[in-house]
Amino acid sequence: AREVHLVRRPHGMPEPDDFALVDRDLGEPGDGEVLVANRSFSVDPYMRGRMNDVPSYVPPFALDEPMDGRAVGEVIASNSADVAVGDTVTSNLAWRTHGVVPAKQVQKVAAPEGVDPTAYLGVLGVPGLTAWVGLLDKAAFREGDSVFVSGAAGAVGSLVGQLAKLKGASRVVGSAGSAEKVAWLTGELGYDAAFNYKDGPVVDQLRAAMPDGVDVYFDNVGADHLEAAIACANDFARVAACGAIAHYNDTADDPTPGPANLFQIVKKRLSIQGFIVTDSIDRMRPFLEEVTPWVAQGRVKFAETTAEGIDNAVEAFRGMLRGENTGKMIVTV
Ligand code: NDP
Repeated sequence: AREVHLVRRPHGMPEPDDFALVDRDLGEPGDGEVLVANRSFSVDPYMRGRMNDVPSYVPPFALDEPMDGRAVGEVIASNSADVAVGDTVTSNLAWRTHGVVPAKQVQKVAAPEGVDPTAYLGVLGVPGLTAWVGLLDKAAFREGDSVFVSGAAGAVGSLVGQLAKLKGASRVVGSAGSAEKVAWLTGELGYDAAFNYKDGPVVDQLRAAMPDGVDVYFDNVGADHLEAAIACANDFARVAACGAIAHYNDTADDPTPGPANLFQIVKKRLSIQGFIVTDSIDRMRPFLEEVTPWVAQGRVKFAETTAEGIDNAVEAFRGMLRGENTGKMIVTV
C-alpha cells in the first residue's frame, strides 16, 4: 500500500514537507478483517485541525502514521462472513491506496442508479448530513426564512442552499471565492443571489443581496462573514456555527480578526448554535431517506473536484484550503 503520513505539524498553511509518501506491506487480512482497495477518498477542512497537537473533539493525527478520513473502495480480500470480495464499501481508510480493517468498520454502499459511490464522500455522506443537520436541527429553519450561506460552493454549503430552497426559504444568498462559483450558485443550484467575498467587504455585499435581513445564517467561514451576518441579522435570527475555515491556518502570531460586533447578539436576541455532526450520526438514516431521492432525481445537484492519484493528495488538500474545489474535493486512487 502507498500511504500519506503526517511527518511534521504544519505552522500556518500546510507545506508539502509536512507529509511523506510511504510504501508499506499490509499482509493478509486476519480473522474478521477485510483488505480494501480504495477508489477514492476525501480531503476535508477538519483535517487541518487534526494536524495540530491540541485537544479537540477529535484526536490529533499521529506523526509517522497514515492519516484517516472517509474513503470509498472495493473489498479485494475478506476474512469475514459479513463482507464479500467485490463489495463496494465506505471506510475511514483515507490517505492510502489500500488498508486492512475489521469488517465491522466498513459500510456497504448501495448507490442509486446513475449515482457514483463517491457521492457518499460528499452530498450523501458526512458533508451532506452536516448541511441537513445544521440547517434543520441546529438553525431550526422554518418555511419563509431568508438564509445566508458562506462557503456556499463547497461540499456542505452547496447542499445547504438547495435544501433551504426545496423547503420554502423566502430568499437564499451564498458567498464564495470566485466568479465561476458565484455563477454556479445562481445558475445551477437555485440560489437567489450570490457574491464573491473577494470583491469587497462582506457586510456591504451581504446587505445589498439581502435587503430584508437574514433569518438564518449557516456559517462555514467565521471572521468577516460571521461579523457581516450578525450585522445583517434580523431580530431572533439563528446561526448554525458549522465551521470557521478563515481561521484554520491561524497562528498565535498571525490570527485572523474575529467579529467586532458581538453585542448585537444581545440586542437582536440571536441564537448561535455550534455543532459537530458526529454527535448527530443517528440522523444519517432520516437524512438519506429524504435526500437520496432528490439526488437520484436530479432535484439536488452536486459537484466534485477530483485530484488524480495518491501522489497528488497533499496538493488536493492544500488546494481545497485555497478554494480550488467546487463542491467536494476528492482524491481518486
Ligand atoms: P468545502 O468543500 O467548502 O471546502 C473549503 C472551502 O472553504 C474552499 O473551497 C474555499 O472556497 C473556502 N475557503 C477557504 N478559505 C476561506 C476563507 N479565508 N474565507 C472564506 N472561504 C474560504 O469544505 P466542506 O464543505 O467540507 O466544509 C465546509 C465547512 O464546514 C468547513 O468550515 C468545515 O470545517 C465545516 N464542517 C463542519 C462540520 C461539523 O460537524 N461542524 C462537518 C463538516 C464540515 P472559496 O473559493 O469560496 O474560498
